[in-house]
Amino acid sequence: MKYYKTASFRFYAELNDFIPAGRKQKCFDYSFLGPITVKEVIESMGVPHSQVDMVLVNGEAVDFSYRINESDYISVYPVFESIDISSASKVRKEPLRHTKFILDAHLGKLAKYLRMIGFDTLYKNDYTDSTIREIGRTEHRIILTRDKGLLNSKKVTHGYYVRAIHPEEQLSEIIEKLDLYSRIDPLSRCLICNGKLKKVNKEDILEQVKPDTAQFFNSFYQCPSCNKIFWEGSHYDRMSRFIKRILSI
Ligand SMILES: [Zn+2]
Repeated sequence: MKYYKTASFRFYAELNDFIPAGRKQKCFDYSFLGPITVKEVIESMGVPHSQVDMVLVNGEAVDFSYRINESDYISVYPVFESIDISSASKVRKEPLRHTKFILDAHLGKLAKYLRMIGFDTLYKNDYTDSTIREIGRTEHRIILTRDKGLLNSKKVTHGYYVRAIHPEEQLSEIIEKLDLYSRIDPLSRCLICNGKLKKVNKEDILEQVKPDTAQFFNSFYQCPSCNKIFWEGSHYDRMSRFIKRILSI
């Protein structure tokens, strides 16, 4: 007869979205036979390891290669947990709160909204999963996706599974979970191509805007990549109202 060992697990906050109903928000027993790492157990439960920021075993921080023992009490915390865990050491050496993004093909509207509030956001509707993972890894970008499979890879170190379905709610969710409130910077990114906007002199772009626009507005910004011009006009007002609205959702 085989002798099973038992450890106790508890997953915190958003990580509960990945695990079965009977195991959510509570401590449960996990039975195992041979040597098994904490990372293997976490992934076998359907939680992408890229979503995990810290693992405590009997109150001590461990890394992913830790082999679980009989009677261990294991707490697993998500990447974007809002409680302060900065005093304990985490499973990763680098900080995870980079605020550059790459989005999967289904999140085009969210990409535009993120640029609208000033975040460096890569998006193309023909990026493959492997391209997204590769760019995410090399450019230290947070992958945003509604596809758990995309995050479940060794190559993914920074990823966030977007829960909301509606783009405005998705934006609100990202701002809240990643605590981006203080970094919102409207009119700093091109909505079309993600270029960093530069302030330009009105006289230099006079011929490129309609006479009405030139008459009523004085501050203009241009995208150095695609040359599109933006100004603090009705577009900016709409954007401001939109931002106020999503922040109050
Ligand atoms: Zn542009």
